[in-house]
Amino acid sequence: MTALKENLDRLEEAIAAACRAANRARAEVELMAVSKTFPAEAVVEALSLNLALFGENRVQEFTAKSHELGDARPRLRCHLIGHLQSNKSARAAELFDGVDSLDSLRLAERLSEAAGKCAKRLPVLLEIKLSHEATKTGLDPASADAAQLLERLPDLPQLELHGLMTVAPLGAGEQGTRDCFRALRALRDRWAAAYSRLNFAVLSMGMSGDFPLAIAEGATRIRVGSALFGSRPALRP
Ligand SMILES: *Cc1c(COP(=O)(O)O)cnc(C)c1O
Repeated sequence: MTALKENLDRLEEAIAAACRAANRARAEVELMAVSKTFPAEAVVEALSLNLALFGENRVQEFTAKSHELGDARPRLRCHLIGHLQSNKSARAAELFDGVDSLDSLRLAERLSEAAGKCAKRLPVLLEIKLSHEATKTGLDPASADAAQLLERLPDLPQLELHGLMTVAPLGAGEQGTRDCFRALRALRDRWAAAYSRLNFAVLSMGMSGDFPLAIAEGATRIRVGSALFGSRPALRP
């Protein structure tokens, strides 16, 4: 058995246990394999183990990987989960099957135009910032930009809103992490009631270190990298 297969088996057991504890069906939680920094071969092996949804955080990195995937590329869905600069919208719209890190009105408009040019409807999630870490990206849900974006989205037909995404603050501890996930779910419920033309079905929250808490708080998609593929090399400076 390969390391990936072993990791996946262990992960599936932990997901099943978290679902049971939360009284939820396993089928309610979609597993996204976060393949950033790992080579195309790792993605191909994951595909052979029936993983189908992948997350990447850089346009440039996935441009190269996508070429290397060759024939395998159409068999997987890959979403961008990292911050997108609006000048890379065209490339991202071509390259990805979804953008889970939409965080401004300006980016939504650029991305919609770019998706239109490649005759694509692009599934998107709004990445929500729920803490005040200075370095963190994401949309402040109380901002004027958020309000404008929510008003505008129904008129951007190339973008198909599917829900919300968040990353828990680093080192928040169990209670802080849980509070963050609970806040995302509450926001989703509030926005779903207020914006009936928009779809908020997906709650993408939880990573290798905190997915059981996310499942307990209602995650419908968890994003797991290191618990599947192993630890990542140190980030480039
Ligand atoms: C890297 C990353 C993940 C996966 O993190 P792990 O701790 O390796 O599971 C999930 N979400 C986002 C947005 C990421 O950048």
